Amino acid sequence: MKIIMLGAPGAGKGTQAKQIAAKYEIPHISTGDIFRANIKNGTELGKKAKAYMDQGALVPDELTCDLVMDRIAQDDCAKGFVLDGFPRTIPQAEALTNALNKIGQAMEYAIDVDVPDENIVNRMSGRRACLNCGATYHIVFNPTKEEGVCDACGNQTVLREDDKPETVQKRLSVYHEQTQPLINYYKEQNILRTVDGTKPMDDVFSDIVAILGE
Ligand code: ADP
Ligand code: ADP
Ligand code: ZN
Repeated sequence: MKIIMLGAPGAGKGTQAKQIAAKYEIPHISTGDIFRANIKNGTELGKKAKAYMDQGALVPDELTCDLVMDRIAQDDCAKGFVLDGFPRTIPQAEALTNALNKIGQAMEYAIDVDVPDENIVNRMSGRRACLNCGATYHIVFNPTKEEGVCDACGNQTVLREDDKPETVQKRLSVYHEQTQPLINYYKEQNILRTVDGTKPMDDVFSDIVAILGE
């Protein structure tokens, strides 16, 4: 099962992708998580990516595509995978289509988690992230058991630097300019499915399961 999660920053892609990965036993591949892990470990890639991420801009396609192609070529991806945060531009989508075509494969589902801009700023300012294990929470909609402490690993949870309102506005405009055209791209490939991302998390997941099958 090969799945792409589409949607604005904060739409709930990561939240849903984690549940999809658990239920269908496929890896969850988040480019944002990969970049953040590289930043934490002080790698060359991390240094380069951070400059863009802090601005709310996209990391250049050259730094992003190879990384994902290498990841999906690994053994654990043989049964499928769920991509979260990739592709984010038309050239990235084309690189993915071409790489899979070469081995006689194709993506099967592009799930657009649809949330209007009005809801996004609230979602982002309430998001808390664990930079140790990648878990995400929301202070109102999905709080940690103990304030500021990750349920999964016990590390501190933080408001990501790029989730502050100024940067969120910039990320939203980048989304509309560069990522939203992918909705049409995947509609034309006949794999686009849309879910209403304003519903509670569990309801969104039920809608996704209805698409993917039990
Ligand atoms: P969100 O889940 O809120 O959309 P992500 O964790 O996916 O945020 O991404 C955080 C940042 O990482 C993005 O704003 C961008 O700078 C960078 N990034 C992640 N994925 C990509 C990608 N496929 N192409 C370019 N930049 C990316
Ligand atoms: P994305 O990966 O698209 O950037 P996340 O999955 O990290 O989005 O979700 C953004 C924030 O909104 C998180 O704080 C998350 O807990 C919260 N959230 C996710 N889905 C919902 C939902 N259906 N209703 C309310 N809050 C949600
Ligand atoms: Zn954690």
